[in-house]
Amino acid sequence: MINSFKKSKLFEYCFRRVSFPGVAVLCYHGIRNDYSPEGTIAWGDFHVTVREFTEHCRFVHDFCDPISLNEFLAAKNGLCPLPKRPVLFTFDDGYRSVFTLARPILRKFNIPALVFLSSNYIEKRCLFWFDTVFRKFGAEEVYRLKATPFNQWKYGDGIFNMPANDDDPNTVLSKEEIIELSDSGSFEFGSHTLDHLILSKISLEEQKKQIYLDKKYIQALIDKPVRVFAYPNGRPGIDYTEKSVKIVLDLGFEAAFSTRFGFTALKDSNLECSRFFILSRLTPFEFSYILFRTALVQRFHDLMCVKKK
Ligand SMILES: [Zn+2]
Repeated sequence: MINSFKKSKLFEYCFRRVSFPGVAVLCYHGIRNDYSPEGTIAWGDFHVTVREFTEHCRFVHDFCDPISLNEFLAAKNGLCPLPKRPVLFTFDDGYRSVFTLARPILRKFNIPALVFLSSNYIEKRCLFWFDTVFRKFGAEEVYRLKATPFNQWKYGDGIFNMPANDDDPNTVLSKEEIIELSDSGSFEFGSHTLDHLILSKISLEEQKKQIYLDKKYIQALIDKPVRVFAYPNGRPGIDYTEKSVKIVLDLGFEAAFSTRFGFTALKDSNLECSRFFILSRLTPFEFSYILFRTALVQRFHDLMCVKKK
């Protein structure tokens, strides 16, 4: 029943009548070819297929209002109104597939995007530590390390120095590609720490260094200010703390993004914006239905809060 509703003209009609209770900030990671064999890419579900991504973009183009980071920040700062169904595309980690696979699709649908970078991997041209550990030891070991204070890790530099070939699907963007994307005017860049360590598992001094030096590196690379940050892994109170938020504020960021689920309303804190975490195998119908259902639930919740007051 619900499945046939998602695919119906009635759903399209209902969707066009809903206005979002804030910005739908979409959190992607990488993009992969439609027929990449199982096991050729670490954390495959974090890399949506070209076909899936095309359908998401088509839906946003046809039924929503894609916005840029500039428009997002201007609205958050009360300088301009939001359109009816605003959507901001973000990519965490800066995989090379943003350049090779996502870019032509975004361009086709005229959608701007924001990419969060971890600069030590760009500088060293290496795989992310969690992609290396996934390949060597599996997913469980990555989960275990993410929950362990960094000074207790038994691994040395080895997992931070795995060289990445250009054709490896887990490769990060090169410096030249980042500059080209930045110069195109359709891509903006944010900071995601030097090494993508879990902030709550390192000292405050180390957190400051990881965030400050990453911001500085990216600004020098693209010759533009870096105005926004994304917390690695991004779960409030688990992967970062209130002290991390204070560091982000003190370092002059205008907004920061978590992985808490939902719309980012104008009234929400700029420093812990919510997002919709997008994984592979999310059909276009489910993608649109999640936005629709969450908009209704959040609107209903806001209404109840107003009534209580
Ligand atoms: Zn990340």
